[in-house]
Amino acid sequence: MKTFDAIVIGTGQAGPPLAARLASAGKKVAIIERGRFGGTCVNTGCIPTKTMVASAYAAHMAKRAADFGVSIAGAVTVDMKRVKARKDEISGKSRTGVEQWMKGLANGVVFQGQARFESANTVAVGEEHLSAPQIFINVGGRATIPAIPGLDEIEYLTNRSMMNVDFLPEHLIILGGSYIGLEFSQMFRRFGSRVTILEMGPRLIAKEDEDISAAILDILGAEGVDVRLNAKTTRFSKREGKPVAHIESSGAPEEIVGSHLLVAVGRRPNTDDLGLDSAGVAMDSRDYIVVDEQLRTNVPGIWALGDCNGHGGFTHTSYNDFEIVTANLLDNDPRRLSDRIPAYALYIDPPLGRAGLTEAEVRKSGKPALLATRPMTKVGRAVEKGETQGFMKIMVDAENKRILGAAILGTGGDEAIHSILDIMYAKAPYTVIQRAVHIHPTVSELIPTMLADLKPL
Ligand SMILES: Cc1cc2nc3c(=O)[nH]c(=O)nc-3n(C[C@H](O)[C@H](O)[C@H](O)COP(=O)(O)OP(=O)(O)OC[C@H]3O[C@@H](n4cnc5c(N)ncnc54)[C@H](O)[C@@H]3O)c2cc1C
Repeated sequence: MKTFDAIVIGTGQAGPPLAARLASAGKKVAIIERGRFGGTCVNTGCIPTKTMVASAYAAHMAKRAADFGVSIAGAVTVDMKRVKARKDEISGKSRTGVEQWMKGLANGVVFQGQARFESANTVAVGEEHLSAPQIFINVGGRATIPAIPGLDEIEYLTNRSMMNVDFLPEHLIILGGSYIGLEFSQMFRRFGSRVTILEMGPRLIAKEDEDISAAILDILGAEGVDVRLNAKTTRFSKREGKPVAHIESSGAPEEIVGSHLLVAVGRRPNTDDLGLDSAGVAMDSRDYIVVDEQLRTNVPGIWALGDCNGHGGFTHTSYNDFEIVTANLLDNDPRRLSDRIPAYALYIDPPLGRAGLTEAEVRKSGKPALLATRPMTKVGRAVEKGETQGFMKIMVDAENKRILGAAILGTGGDEAIHSILDIMYAKAPYTVIQRAVHIHPTVSELIPTMLADLKPL
């Protein structure tokens, strides 16, 4: 048995900074990783996909070059091998950075292999047995594979295996119309694939407001992504080596034959093979580890951070979990999970930046609220760039004037949303933004103008 002050399981977005903080505080730390250092974001999530989104944007703009008075002689073509190589290089640098960081940590020892709890304070990795009074779980998640008949008999891709694609799928069928599926759909359409999204619900990205879903449908539709809504996939089969989705849409059966199938119906936590029973760590009905406001599990001395606790699902939320844990453990700063304002971006082009409540959530809360919207056609910066799709909207509390939520679906929306997010964190009234002098020409400069149009919800 090797003894440590702390064990960190998983090197996702919370584990490495946490291990580094604990080690620099003088604790002897064991770091366990079964796969590639850096986890999902670095290897199969944010970094590689946004790198590929950038390639897709370049292809798209090259095809639009004439709109800007730029001539490109000959056809615009995409070299998928080079797209993948660029992605591999950027993602690989990040991975190597995390690996070297962890392996070079003074007071840290890295173990490569599958971690499994043996008790509340011991963990096995291969032949090794490690013990510590503090154990931090950062095991992340993976793609959910739905129990649709025939799926297990055909080849399909997930966000992980998509990373090996160095060719152009002739017709990519994407099962699932939420953020992972949408990003891949537009990306591969821009690379030149035919793309069909099969979404069983009545609209795309159902957590968003209906007007956002509708605008995203328009954006993807304008580029030729075929979106099938209310499409229940009843089974899959294979025909001449190709995947066939058997769907029922408005009651009528239909077959969609693709060249490749991507399954993107959601994520599940990597908690099934961690031996949590042996430690007595409680999970909820969806196998997420139950945590309190400080990310403590029901077992004293065990914490769960990142996607596996079900309170985030993003890189920034996982990193914030690290901040909450270290603030409480090392800095005598009582940071809480509930201090966090939900925020995220959807990286289609133009992107969606989101902060706080949706309009539907504001309506449900029954709070007296005001709402303002502005189409991107009325944002000078968007017009100048020739990227006028989308709109922005904001909701504020009619009584205390605080911002309840906002969405910017439009060029630069992933950045501009932060001027709203910061005011929300400051708990300041929206009128502060109206008195700020924003830079011209930007998307952010129209936020004060939009706020001048607030009307009762
Ligand atoms: C396609 C895609 C795109 C995404 N894009 C974005 C985006 O643009 N922005 C954003 O904020 N988020 C994005 N995400 C989500 C983001 O990647 C995750 O939320 C983020 O990586 C946080 O994960 P984590 O820290 O919980 O753990 P992870 O990054 O999943 O890491 C967990 C680590 O634990 C290891 N592990 C698991 N079990 C064990 C075990 N038993 N023993 C040892 N090691 C183990 C794994 O190998 C892995 O390295 C995306 C996700 C996907 C799939």
